[in-house]
Amino acid sequence: MATNPAPVMTMSDYDREQRDTITAVANCVRSLSPSAVKALKGRIRAYLGFRADVDAFLQEHFSAICTVRCYESRQSACCGREGITTFFADVAINVLMSSRKEVESLLDALNRSTRDRKCVYLGKNGCLWRIKPIVCEMFLCERARQTVFGRNPAALVQWKRLRHRQRRYTWPSRPVLFDALEDYFMDKGIHSPLMYCHNSPGLLRVKARARKKHTG
Ligand code: SF4
Repeated sequence: MATNPAPVMTMSDYDREQRDTITAVANCVRSLSPSAVKALKGRIRAYLGFRADVDAFLQEHFSAICTVRCYESRQSACCGREGITTFFADVAINVLMSSRKEVESLLDALNRSTRDRKCVYLGKNGCLWRIKPIVCEMFLCERARQTVFGRNPAALVQWKRLRHRQRRYTWPSRPVLFDALEDYFMDKGIHSPLMYCHNSPGLLRVKARARKKHTG
């Protein structure tokens, strides 16, 4: 009796872009001298400090509610999404701070992806990224926001300050780390669709407006 051939799984564009970018950055970082890696890590130090502050804030104000709602109930609104936005700098920073094994686990996840309506990077023990994408880090679902900020307006003020700090690294209306990291790796011959500071029409407009403002 004839049997149907097994369906051929093709990699989605999203997974391919992610895989290619992670691979290119990892290969590039491995080819750098120890002093160049040290210098690169020096450039992201302040950003990592910002991320530590966000982690501390989330731990203090959201860990209890998010643990119950999103982990024990397995209903995370963020990680349950397919195709979360990742910036090139997210990848570069994560690769720089990850072990080879951690990078391989991301590539394995992409290669094994079944597109089952949750983030491809959500592993058995949570997110596979060491320094997760900034979009994920700053994501608070509406329910959690209302619960925490409703009873603690001072926490909302703190959160707004953190969001303001985030823009100093990511929003290219002035020279920012996320844009500079794209430049750095482009100089090394890497090009990626995740380089939004160089290829998103919206962000290019932001940069053009800023240039115009500064040149009068
Ligand atoms: S990258 Fe990590 S934190 Fe972000 S949605 Fe995926 S599993 Fe969740």
